[in-house]
Amino acid sequence: MPNEIHTRCCIAGGGPAGMMLGLLLARVGIDVLVLEKHGDFLRDFRGDTVHPSTLELMHELGLLQALLQRPHDKAFQLTISVAGQDLTIADFSRLRMQCNFIALMPQWDFLDFLRDHAVTYPNFRLLQNAEVTGLLESDERISGVRANTDDGTLKIYADLVIGADGRHSIVRKAAGLAVRDLGAPIDVLWMRLPVTAGDPSTTGARLDAGKFFVMLHRGSYWQCAYVIPKGGIDAIHARGLNAFYAELTAVAPLFADRVQALQSWDDIKLLSVTVDRLERWWKPGLLCIGDAAHAMSPIGGVGINLAIQDAVAAANILSKSLANPQVRAEALTPLLQQVQSRRLFPARITQAIQVAIQNRVLVPLIGKQGKQALTVPWPLKLLNRWPALRKLPAYAVGIGVQPEHILDRQAHAGSQAPAQPISK
Ligand SMILES: Cc1cc2nc3c(=O)[nH]c(=O)nc-3n(C[C@H](O)[C@H](O)[C@H](O)COP(=O)(O)OP(=O)(O)OC[C@H]3O[C@@H](n4cnc5c(N)ncnc54)[C@H](O)[C@@H]3O)c2cc1C
Repeated sequence: MPNEIHTRCCIAGGGPAGMMLGLLLARVGIDVLVLEKHGDFLRDFRGDTVHPSTLELMHELGLLQALLQRPHDKAFQLTISVAGQDLTIADFSRLRMQCNFIALMPQWDFLDFLRDHAVTYPNFRLLQNAEVTGLLESDERISGVRANTDDGTLKIYADLVIGADGRHSIVRKAAGLAVRDLGAPIDVLWMRLPVTAGDPSTTGARLDAGKFFVMLHRGSYWQCAYVIPKGGIDAIHARGLNAFYAELTAVAPLFADRVQALQSWDDIKLLSVTVDRLERWWKPGLLCIGDAAHAMSPIGGVGINLAIQDAVAAANILSKSLANPQVRAEALTPLLQQVQSRRLFPARITQAIQVAIQNRVLVPLIGKQGKQALTVPWPLKLLNRWPALRKLPAYAVGIGVQPEHILDRQAHAGSQAPAQPISK
């Protein structure tokens, strides 16, 4: 492989934001290269939710039926159990969309799906095992990236670099973009527990005894999240696994007979929650999107949705100019500002809601000791009592603020000659 590559657009990071943008740019004929530091998409759990708004975008791209051929579960409602009382709080079946449910599909399957379609465009390239380590600069703009690959260091020169490398973005750090930390007083432990015959099949959460526990029914297993105070993992480790089993059983008695399936701390993954946002998402030659621009809390499970929406907005705003070889790199700068202007509002509102839930609901709750009485908050009572109201949280979670749509429904690049991903 040559140690220099030239492309119109280089995307650092093959997560939901990077793969979706890669697909969208490729389908309108733009030469695009996605660099992903891992060799595949099969990694730790990072969210399994494909929201109604993303499914709508798949429909607009003509890919919905193919996506729904892949194994998935459907969540039509969200339920929460507060101090033993079961409440339905969101009802996606009330949404007027192509799909009025959340598709629960492992993120790696969704990314595989995007990759499988992107590689049908000859101008799409995916380089895996390629870790971006720094930026190249020339003529007072970012002009590319440096990446470590199995074949050594590679320089990729591009008219536009996209930082889609997630919450620990190297790109945004190397660019010196200022980050505003919005604070996250919680961490989350993720784990899988087995499903047994007779289990309910609902996806929901449990609030009890100073604990908050989320259960996603994934067909053959439960994907579970347990909220702990920030930095609380050391104390949990010190108390030992048996004490942890007892904590889980107290909040989710359903699992009393199978918590031992968690055989060691390796089966329990820590997500150190971060909520932050770049003051400015771009520099000449560079744009950050997704978690790299605004790291999301897992509350509401909306991070993937926002990342995808950012990608769609970026493609809508940038495609025409990127597809025109007469448009020089410098001329793209005002468009980068436009992408931020378009997506800042949804990111800001969504993060504000997440921070409010963290600080006003979760922190007081997980501070309560086991015997303190827990009353059902009045908004939850209202939602449970008036089913029509459940459309509001369904809209907030399933669609979100200012949903994007594919403006250019006509793919321009041919898909006759499937290209292979450049992967090791
Ligand atoms: C444990 C966990 C559970 C979550 N649950 C949910 C959920 O249920 N629903 C939901 O919507 N959101 C959830 N989220 C949040 C969601 O995962 C993110 O908001 C979303 O994935 C952001 O997408 P992204 O493409 O911006 O970044 P990421 O998904 O983080 O993707 C970034 C990609 O860049 C790659 N990368 C990183 N650095 C480099 C580099 N230097 N060079 C090349 N490649 C690089 C990474 O390997 C990764 O593939 C969860 C997050 C975590 C951690």
